[in-house]
Amino acid sequence: MGPGPSNPYPGAVTAAGSPMLGHLDPAFLDVLDATCEELRQVFRTENSLTLPLSGTGSAGMEASLANLVRPGDPVVVGVNGLFGERLCEVAGRLGAEVVRVEAPWGQPLDPEAVLRAHPAPRIICVVHAETSTGVENDVAAVAAGKGEALLVVDAVTSLGGVPVEVDRWGADVCYSCSQKCLGAPPGLAPITVSPRARAALRERPPTWYLDLGLIAGYVEAGGGRAYHHTAPVLMVQVLHGALQALLAEGLEASWARHEAAGRALQDGLEALGLELFAAKGHRLSSLVTVKVPTDLPGGLDEAGVRRRLLEEHGVEIGAGAGKLAGQIWRIGCMGHNARLRSVETVLAALGEVLG
Ligand code: PLP
Repeated sequence: MGPGPSNPYPGAVTAAGSPMLGHLDPAFLDVLDATCEELRQVFRTENSLTLPLSGTGSAGMEASLANLVRPGDPVVVGVNGLFGERLCEVAGRLGAEVVRVEAPWGQPLDPEAVLRAHPAPRIICVVHAETSTGVENDVAAVAAGKGEALLVVDAVTSLGGVPVEVDRWGADVCYSCSQKCLGAPPGLAPITVSPRARAALRERPPTWYLDLGLIAGYVEAGGGRAYHHTAPVLMVQVLHGALQALLAEGLEASWARHEAAGRALQDGLEALGLELFAAKGHRLSSLVTVKVPTDLPGGLDEAGVRRRLLEEHGVEIGAGAGKLAGQIWRIGCMGHNARLRSVETVLAALGEVLG
């Protein structure tokens, strides 16, 4: 019940025992094609360039920017947590003129402020679900006013658990990770690229491994299946297993399950006398943040509470990250863990430790 990885779906665990296939074996290519199609359904997009990128969520972030940003490009980044900061860092290293639009950690971004920040941004970046604070940002509002800019959306903590609507929003690039609401282990970064963003991809980006044009030559059947790097075949099979479980349940049913579990967790934490951190009305179901109380019992400190949860109850919750270290706990409600049963377990354990 930390901020990820979450427990995988049973279908993902079963797939982990799949026989080893070559990355060019037709049987594996069928699995890869099916996985890309499942990702299109989960991202709610028709984008042909939709794939499981090798690497964790940060690879998705780096690929999105490295394939689009040219030195000197104005890149507007919404910053209300650690992952907005990371986007600034990545864009800055690529030579972008980074325009930061800040909101206090725990509060949502102001979409109007993001849209007013520069007269002609080439790229706008927004973190949909800020894992460091538990806040959901209004991507649809930013997308509606983006004009000629390309919109890059981080859906690492939302995809599969919180509504993500790539085509309806008009997002140009959206990336995620395998280990949170998709219910697989860490190791892949699902990514989708709109036709407009695809036309804007750099010819020779300053990354070879994450060059989306080269990777498309392998992933897309029409690209000739040219070898680029050895696909992590087992991880793709595992993600396929997780996505099959998710889509068999139904994407909207999964969103509703996350919502119900997240709300029960928020209500239960307040019933324990704890104060939620993220601004009301903007709270994520997939990642709930709560303030560490000042009156912890029996000489316990923040880390001591988490240690006792883990050692005595087998429950993991997350610490605050970045400037919120020591001040909040982050409790994930993601993928297979987004169930009332898991919520009741964590609440009962926390209630016991906090006395
Ligand atoms: N973006 C967000 C919103 C995240 O929560 C994370 C990780 O938790 C990342 C990016 C980076 O993903 P990873 O740690 O899988 O590289």
